[in-house]
Amino acid sequence: EALTEAACHSLNTDITRHPCYSEEAHRYFARMHVPVAPACNIQCHYCNRKFDCVNESRPGVVSELLTPDDAIRKVTGVAAQLMQLSVVGIAGPGDPLANADKTFETFGGLRSVVPDVTFCLSTNGLTLNKHIDEIVELGIAHVTITINAVNPDIGSQIYGWVYDEDEDRKYEGRDAAELLISRQLEGLKALTERGVLVKVNSVLIPGVNDEHMSEVSRTVRSHGAFMHNIMPLIIAPGSRYEEEGREAPSPRMLHKIQKDCAGEGSKIMRHCRQCRADAIGLLGEDRSADFTWENLA
Ligand code: SF4
Ligand code: SF4
Repeated sequence: EALTEAACHSLNTDITRHPCYSEEAHRYFARMHVPVAPACNIQCHYCNRKFDCVNESRPGVVSELLTPDDAIRKVTGVAAQLMQLSVVGIAGPGDPLANADKTFETFGGLRSVVPDVTFCLSTNGLTLNKHIDEIVELGIAHVTITINAVNPDIGSQIYGWVYDEDEDRKYEGRDAAELLISRQLEGLKALTERGVLVKVNSVLIPGVNDEHMSEVSRTVRSHGAFMHNIMPLIIAPGSRYEEEGREAPSPRMLHKIQKDCAGEGSKIMRHCRQCRADAIGLLGEDRSADFTWENLA
């Protein structure tokens, strides 16, 4: 709690106004995702890149991609009409940090337009280590990292490949998982040390990481994660997991694992709605259709 307060204070933000971080706030405050980030630098077996990233969003839907300029115009228009707007996030449709120029251009332009709104970013974490300073300087107070495994043997059953742009090299198998996991944990720790609140999302994949989830929870907590959001697997059509015939966890399995992790001391999020990368409104509602360009004009 002390860490949370200190972190909020240092970034001049208030988690009581963030619908994803405060169970109370999700009834009253709205968030808006702007889809400016199309590319991705890894391949998750539950994903099909024709659709939105699962980091923060529901697969099987396609968001209208926006340029940074359009995203800034859209946020300006929505903020004027949606008084409860308290958070603007970038969550896809690919990985926001695999499109770092677009993502940071958008946040940079938005700061003067919506000075009181909290910024939030979701990522697979692969390139986080390179962007810590920018994140802090732009006042991005909340970051979500999707960490599905902390053991590379398990990770190798979740990720097909990981592309490291610095080396221009594609990693596969255990090496891919090892690189991704080490970058995720390094990024988590570095952000936390700079006062950014980090939530970790994990996709619960029966038969792959269900028995591993409490280790994930313990590890991310020890690296500074503020909250752990264990989400049920949703398999995108055309993904590797669909071909393999994998299935989503039962609600019973999900609740049991959330409960076990909470029992070990993690702060577990239970009200995540797995929103789309272009969602607008209170959690559980998506008013993106109300905010067309015509309606905003
Ligand atoms: Fe898909 Fe995974 Fe990339 Fe998200 S991080 S776009 S789920 S491959
Ligand atoms: Fe919040 Fe979950 Fe929606 Fe992200 S996907 S905005 S964490 S409710």
